[in-house]
Amino acid sequence: MSQLPHTPVRRTKIVATLGPASDREGVLEEMLRAGVDVVRLNFSHGSADDHRRRLNEVRTIADRLGRSVAALGDLQGPKIRIARFAEGAVNLEEGADFVIDVSMDSQAGDATRVGCDYKELADDVAGGDRLLLDDGRVVLDVDRVDGSQIHTRVVVGGKLSNNKGINKQGGGLSAPALTDKDKEDLKTAIDIGVDYLAVSFPRTAEDMLEARRLLGEAGAEIGLVAKLERAEAVASDETLDGIIEASEAVMVARGDLGVEIGDEKLIGTQKRIIKHARSHNRAVITATQMMESMIESPLPTRAEVFDVANAVLDATDAVMLSAETAAGDYPVETIEAMDRVCLGAERERIAQESGHRIHEGFERIDETIALSAMYAANHLEGVAAIACMTSTGYTPLIASRIRSGLPIVGLAHNPIAQRRMALYRGVISLPFDTSEMSASELNDRALERLVNHGVAVPGDHVILTRGDHMNAHGGTNTLKILDVNDGHVAG
Ligand code: PGA
Ligand code: MN
Repeated sequence: MSQLPHTPVRRTKIVATLGPASDREGVLEEMLRAGVDVVRLNFSHGSADDHRRRLNEVRTIADRLGRSVAALGDLQGPKIRIARFAEGAVNLEEGADFVIDVSMDSQAGDATRVGCDYKELADDVAGGDRLLLDDGRVVLDVDRVDGSQIHTRVVVGGKLSNNKGINKQGGGLSAPALTDKDKEDLKTAIDIGVDYLAVSFPRTAEDMLEARRLLGEAGAEIGLVAKLERAEAVASDETLDGIIEASEAVMVARGDLGVEIGDEKLIGTQKRIIKHARSHNRAVITATQMMESMIESPLPTRAEVFDVANAVLDATDAVMLSAETAAGDYPVETIEAMDRVCLGAERERIAQESGHRIHEGFERIDETIALSAMYAANHLEGVAAIACMTSTGYTPLIASRIRSGLPIVGLAHNPIAQRRMALYRGVISLPFDTSEMSASELNDRALERLVNHGVAVPGDHVILTRGDHMNAHGGTNTLKILDVNDGHVAG
């Protein structure tokens, strides 16, 4: 075979937001070829038709490339925004008085006051609070609230334009996570067939359970992603763990979270969220401004390289791109840069070693098999990969909570399971239909699949997990160590 054995496979997954930049002729295909694992459809922008058209195109290209690419729909949530200025924008001077008036004409803002679409804001803030506008670029201290008028003083001034976001430092805005628009968009997301759905600004597990109820009513098999972006969501381990357990995955949504809790707390909070998500057997995405300068530049800054690398060393499942791929000038170059940086960071020893659950008892048989497989693979010389025959993707998820340098191959027949695994760190998702196979040939067919994909060569060991009864949920009860030989190389 001409193929080099064991070409390094990137373990950390790349989530790329779609938008006008990826709509340009040929760009989406180049992005997928460059290594996008999950596409994000952002319901804060674009129409239902835009999202449908983009997802159809992703599915067509992914099929052609033989790749499992997941789709993540991202609900807008109760992002609170100022209304509009008569002149489009104003300049706020430091020390000046400024009023946010929730009952004024929404088009009539000027340098002294502006409206707000969220009427409860006047009830949710009080004298002494600090409001952060436009991702923290403009800072207002609340002096007093008088009916519908929030009187503030400008602490950090500058240009403020229409519809910029408002965050309250320390959190505490009362809006529930699912707005009427979100409930409509949730139906659209089900209809166009996303694999994951992100809920923005959940306060507690309740907000996630509400979304799950709406999905359940529709009978949709969609994984929920909680965007951690409110101060109260991460304020205690109890709340954080509750949200994690109510979700299939979480996102470190550093844009809004950083504004609410401050950068200095964000550093440790990212690490804490990743650690908690992994120890609860959930996937985790690290998001926002990872390669922000690449919106306008073909190369990342050194700081961005290290930010992405740091998230990889923190053991995130995925790193996410927002405007870089949705609206930037270099969407493909950004994916290529991220791919390089992830691969580089993954070579470091700490990215491959794990003490995960080493001192813990296990409760489930499939979990025990998954963790034993990783333990065996990480300790036995000559193992090329762990292969899991799976119906839901659960065994690869559990296995991938353990750090390793070896690929975990998820072999599933169900397309929903195939695409769900696209988010899991270190998991290569390969379609595998056992319905026409006899029990005695399953193992050989699995090894062939790995050899054809370039993850194993003759002479390697492969650790295989499967159930005695194929396609039974949670049925994994077997671990085998197999040898790859020339018979597994397809002629
Ligand atoms: P957004 O969420 O891009 O929808 O704002 C991510 C974040 O806040 O970091
Ligand atoms: Mn956000």
